[in-house]
Amino acid sequence: MKILVLNCGSSSLKYQLIDMNNEEVLCIGLVERIGIDGSILKQEKDGVEGKLIKEEPMKNHQDAIKLVLEAVLHPEFGGVKEMSEIEAVGHRVVHGGEKFASSVLITEEVEKAIKECVDLAPLHNPANIMGIDACKAILPNVPMVAVFDTAFHQTMPKSSYLYGLPHELYTKYGVRRYGFHGTSHKYVSQRAAEMLGKDIKDLKIITCHLGNGASIAAVDGGKCIDTSMGFTPLEGLIMGTRCGDIDSAILPFLMQKEGLDADGLSNLMNKQSGVYGMTGISSDFRDIEGAAEKGDEKAQVALDAYVKKVQKYIGSYAAEMNGVDVVVFTAGVGENGIDLRGRIASNMEFLGMKLDEESNKVRGKERVISTTDSKVKMLLIPTNEELMIARDTLNLVK
Ligand code: AMP
Repeated sequence: MKILVLNCGSSSLKYQLIDMNNEEVLCIGLVERIGIDGSILKQEKDGVEGKLIKEEPMKNHQDAIKLVLEAVLHPEFGGVKEMSEIEAVGHRVVHGGEKFASSVLITEEVEKAIKECVDLAPLHNPANIMGIDACKAILPNVPMVAVFDTAFHQTMPKSSYLYGLPHELYTKYGVRRYGFHGTSHKYVSQRAAEMLGKDIKDLKIITCHLGNGASIAAVDGGKCIDTSMGFTPLEGLIMGTRCGDIDSAILPFLMQKEGLDADGLSNLMNKQSGVYGMTGISSDFRDIEGAAEKGDEKAQVALDAYVKKVQKYIGSYAAEMNGVDVVVFTAGVGENGIDLRGRIASNMEFLGMKLDEESNKVRGKERVISTTDSKVKMLLIPTNEELMIARDTLNLVK
């Protein structure tokens, strides 16, 4: 079965066409600037040199998906000869609230429930809904599945997901920890068990998804019991442009001192903070590492603070699970940041984590990076959210 995986953002759309007979990616693409001047589609196919580029006005997601469906039929860069070969569509949906603890076949009712979660993810869910509506209009008879970023974390106990706030804020507005990057945490934790030849039920795993957005999860026996992102993807680690955990009393203080309103504060914490805000240099960890090497003190401190925060979460999740068997690194920094991985793993020997410096010299490949006598296995596992979405889609439409 050939499955189209769609990840719709407000003005962008990432997609992959995957043949689920052998999990081969037939083609992969990105549409940018949907609804604004300069809309562009770029598509690549493994083994074919160059890129398919289409620059055409796309006033909405429906226009974009029409173009995607033309592109996947392309004789050179495409993956199918006829549209009817696409038997299902898997949609990434950011927020499923408490309604969805797993992926679901999209029905009218499901769509309504996703719309009810818009309040919780105002920047993301509307784009996901646009993608679903556009597909419904163009491929009315093709089954569609929604795969939620929040679903994997729905197994957290109340003691992990409730904040120290008045309880009625949870019942009235759903203010609680939801967690994000769930598809990635699920994929790498399952893959870790496979790599080690163990039953996931017997493992305590800490998964570190360290990308531009970053989160850590404690996965005990295959179930998420805690995660660092919260009500929104702002909480937790220091990220590219997001501040992560801060003393919340800073917010009313800044409202008074800087005259910021709610939007101003949100912009400050989500877009002007993180390693970018701390250094004034960049949100890209490669630039921060480069500046630190040249002696920039702010960059050195930002990296130290970043590393310390990751270590604190690993330590606290090990305590929460009464031990840890596996630590997994994934996403941009986790997969490529050799030095950062090394720094995170240092100073953690008391926990039984011993890094193998040589094995750690690798980017973007599955590998055990701990020493053979390390009590805790450390693994590098490139994430693959698209494959996970396609697998869930296949299971539900089959
Ligand atoms: P992601 O959000 O998973 O795509 O991760 C993107 C981030 O990974 C970039 O912003 C970089 O900060 C980081 N990254 C990519 N390559 C490297 C590298 N070689 N060393 C350190 N960080 C990297």
